[in-house]
Amino acid sequence: MAGERIAVVTGASSGIGAASARQLARAGFHVVAGARRADRLQALAEEVGATTLALDVTDPASVDAFAAAVGDRHGHADVLVNNAGTGVGLDPVADAREADWQTTMDTNVVGLLRVTRAFLPLLRAAPHAHIVNLGSIAGFEVYPGGAGYTASKHAVRAITQTLRLELNGEPIRITEVAPGMVETEFSLVRFGGDEEAARRVYAGMEPLRAEDVAECIRWAVAQPAHVNVDEIVVRPRDQATATEVHRQ
Ligand code: NAP
Repeated sequence: MAGERIAVVTGASSGIGAASARQLARAGFHVVAGARRADRLQALAEEVGATTLALDVTDPASVDAFAAAVGDRHGHADVLVNNAGTGVGLDPVADAREADWQTTMDTNVVGLLRVTRAFLPLLRAAPHAHIVNLGSIAGFEVYPGGAGYTASKHAVRAITQTLRLELNGEPIRITEVAPGMVETEFSLVRFGGDEEAARRVYAGMEPLRAEDVAECIRWAVAQPAHVNVDEIVVRPRDQATATEVHRQ
C-alpha cells in the first residue's frame, strides 16, 4: 500500500521482539516480523496483521531472502529493529564452551551487521528511516561469566556509534536501547532450557517486562524525524548495576 510505514523486527518470536512488534503495529506501522521459529510468529500475524517470515540472522542466505521479500512486497523499510540476540552460557572464561561464544558472536554481532547491511538499501528508499539496535547494560558493564555476552554487547555499542558516523548526512536515525534485567526467554536460553536456573535470575526482585523495553523503542521511533535519541538505558528499579541487585 502506498505510504505504508514498514517496521522490520528481528527476533520477534518472543520477549522484547514480540512486544516491540505489537507496539509498533499499534503505533500504525505494518510490521514484518522475523525469527527462526516461524510457527511462534503466527500469533503476531493474527493479532496485529504482521507479515511473518522465517529468519536466521546467522545465515547469509536467510538474511538475503528476508530482505528480498521485504523489498519485493514493500520496496522500502522505515524502521529496522535489530533485536535478535542471545547469550549462551554463564561460565568463566576458563570453563566456557567455544560453541557458546561462537553462537553469541554470530548472532549478536555478525548477524546484526549482516541484517543492517542487507536493509540499508531499503532504509535509504524510505523518506526517512530509523535503526534501533538492542544493546544491553552489558555493553558498558561486565560481570563474571559474561565475557562472551558482554563482549558482544560492547560490540553492538561500537557498531551503533560507527553507523551514526557513517550515516551522518542521510535521513536515517540510529538508537541503541540498552536494558538491564528483562524477564523473557533470554535466561531460559542462556541456561539451556533449565527453568529453575532461569527462575533464580529474577528471584525476589521485579525485573523489567518485555513491554517496558518495547515502549522505549516505540517512543524513540515516535520522535520527530530530526530528533535522534542516541541511547536509552533502562533498568529495573531493583538493579543498580549488572551485579548489584536488591532482592527481598
Ligand atoms: P528472548 O525472549 O530469548 O528473544 C530472543 C529472540 O531472538 C527470539 O525471538 C529468537 O527467536 C531470536 N533469535 C535468536 N537467535 C536468532 C537467530 N539466529 N536468527 C533470528 N532470530 C534469532 O530474549 P529477549 O530478552 O527478548 O532478547 C531480545 C534482545 O534483547 C537480545 O538482543 C538480548 O541480548 C537483548 N537484551 C535482553 C535482556 C534481558 O535481560 N532479557 C537485557 C538486555 C538486552 P528464534 O529462537 O525463534 O529464532
